[in-house]
Formats: sequence, C-alpha cells, structure tokens
Amino acid sequence: MTLEQPKNWARELSQGLVSLKQLTKCGLLTDDDKKAHQKKQEEGLLLNVRIPQVFLESIQQGDPVLTQQFIPRLEEHTVHPEEWEDPIGDEAHTPFPGLTHRYPDRVLLKPTYLCAGYCRFCFRRYKVSKAEHNPTANDMARAVDYIRQHPAIQEVILTGGDPLTLTDTTLFALLEQLHTIEHVQLIRIHTRVPILLPSRIQPAFIHKLKQIQKPMWISVHANHEREFTPEARLALALLADGGFPLVMQSVLLQGVNDSLEALTNLFRTAVTQRVKPYYLHYPDLAKGTKHFRMPFAKAIELVKSLRGVLSGICIPQFIVDIPGGKGKVEVNPHWVRLVAGPSGDSVWELQSPLDGSLVHIPYE
Ligand SMILES: *Cc1c(COP(=O)(O)O)cnc(C)c1O
Ligand code: SF4
Repeated sequence: MTLEQPKNWARELSQGLVSLKQLTKCGLLTDDDKKAHQKKQEEGLLLNVRIPQVFLESIQQGDPVLTQQFIPRLEEHTVHPEEWEDPIGDEAHTPFPGLTHRYPDRVLLKPTYLCAGYCRFCFRRYKVSKAEHNPTANDMARAVDYIRQHPAIQEVILTGGDPLTLTDTTLFALLEQLHTIEHVQLIRIHTRVPILLPSRIQPAFIHKLKQIQKPMWISVHANHEREFTPEARLALALLADGGFPLVMQSVLLQGVNDSLEALTNLFRTAVTQRVKPYYLHYPDLAKGTKHFRMPFAKAIELVKSLRGVLSGICIPQFIVDIPGGKGKVEVNPHWVRLVAGPSGDSVWELQSPLDGSLVHIPYE
C-alpha cells in the first residue's frame, strides 16, 4: 500500500469540528437547532460534539450513515421513561473513578472520558466528552493498586472514553504498570481510534505497544462499511501486522446499519481487514437515544437472517446488556426447541438457516 499516515495525529484531532458554532457555519446545523443544543450544553446535558476529520467531507456531502452517528439531533433532548442515566449500572461497581469491576476475572479501566469523535448514541454519554469526569493520576494509581490486590483479575480492559486518545507518555506509563502485575494475563484495549483518528496508529506507536510483554487484544468499534476508509484500513493493517488480534464491537443502529445488506457489508469488510466481529450490541437504554433503537423483535429477526447468508467468521454475538447492571447476555434467535415427537417423546426441533424448514432430531 502506498498510502502513508500523516505524521501528526494531534493536528488531525484538532482539525475535526468541535463546536456547535463550527457545525452551524458549515451548514451542518440550523440556527434554531444550534440554539436548542447550546442551551442543553450550558446545562451540562449535551454530549459534546466532535466530528472526526476523516469523515468531514462525507458528512458535508450528506452521507446519512455518518451524519446520524456524529451530528446532534433534537431527539437527543427527549428522555423516555424507560431510559436510564447509567443504563448498564457501571456506577454500582465503580469503587472510585476510573475502575469498574463487575465480573470477577476482569475489570474495566477508564483512564479518560475523551474520544476522537462523539457518537450520538454513546451509552456512557453522561460522562463521556467531559474532561471534569476524567480520573486523576491519583485515581489511576489506586486503580492499579486495586488490580494488584485482586489476584482473581486476569484481564484488564482499557476503555473510557477512548484510551488511545491519551498521549504516549500517559498511555505507556499505565501499560507498563499493568505489565508489572503478574496475575494480569491479558490486556484488552477498546477503541474507535483506528477508525476515527487513524493517524494515531503509526509504526513507532506499534513498536512501543509491542514492548509491553503481555498478550494484548484490540477491540475496534465500527458500525458501517464506510467507516473503513483507506486511512482506517492502513491503521488496522499496522495493528494486525504488529501481531495484535483484532475484534470488532458494533452497535445495531436504526438509520445506520439496520438492514441485512448493511450488516453483511460491515461484517464482510471487517474480516477482510483481519478484524473478527465479536459483539453486535442492541443499543443500551441511555437517555435521549430512542431514535437509534429499532424494535427488539425486528432486531432479533434481522440478526437471525445473518446465519446461512454469511460465513461463520463474519457473525458476531448479538448482545444485550441487561439494564440496571445485571450483565451482558447473548440473545440467540430461536434455532432450537424441545417439542413433542410422534411417539409422545420429546425431540429437539432445529430450524434450517437455509430454507427455514423444521427438522426433528432425537438428541438425548
Ligand atoms: C462489557 C463489560 C466487560 C467485558 O465483557 P466481555 O463480555 O468480556 O467482553 C467487562 N466488565 C464490564 C463491567 C463490562 O460492562
Ligand atoms: S467512541 Fe465509544 S465512548 Fe466515545 S463517544 Fe463513541 S461510543 Fe462513546
């Protein structure tokens, strides 16, 4: 590939649009909408805006998939009764800022709440984009101590916000500390940076990442094939060539990827970039995000239709994070059930993903 990343990711970050005023100036918001958003922003109730520079041109040309994800809409200010501030109940498992421990063997570390772009459907929107929520250096030191004192923790998951928006100095200081904890077997980094800020991923950065002598998996967040720009593909290739297993998390979003065609193209594109689709999330019940949620029954049917159409390596698990902090579950379309057989015994009924036919199998 002849494409090269621009060398200065901080400059690329600063070239994205970050204010309501800039959006209005570029014709991406009307004056009235800007005023409504501004009022919410003053009350501290708006997820800030940040339009990644890589998508600017497509958004200005009206690409609905990218516009929906990054340009704020008035619907965000309508909170529905079923919606929660902290839909997946992180706070109850957060002993101090920056560390969430819900499952015994793994913790979330959130060293920053800043991102390379602000996704309007973000489920952590009550904290994300606001620097005042960032954990302090002292909080992070406590988090590392906490992990050190809990030998059951095998895996540390860096998330946020987006951990790859940290400077190298901060990021590698943290990784080096984790490296010294013997019972930590695995580090996972959840990030949207390879997609939203691909110039962050440079050969020199990969080289430093490889110095951390713990297996490290990278989970990339992408929701549509058009997010795989030539720059993003290069960033992913650098990570894959660096030896980091890559998986993808996506969110099923109405108006963005809520069709068989969009999902098929997304997952096929990911695997061609050596990224394994891992989770497809039904959107959490975060405040002001109803316009992103398709009816659940339709979502299940859509996910069911992937099987038989797509190669198995393309198919992620469909995940619901049960509201109130009850944990993630895989929601399986109903492929199997126990039914009464001809002789009165129970038999398993499996449905063919190819022609929908029902087949009875006498498994014990
Ligand atoms: C989602 C989540 C994880 C990671 O779950 P996996 O199923 O391993 O991807 C870990 N801790 C918390 C608190 C989570 O919400
Ligand atoms: S990158 Fe992740 S954390 Fe940041 S706004 Fe998007 S969904 Fe939220």
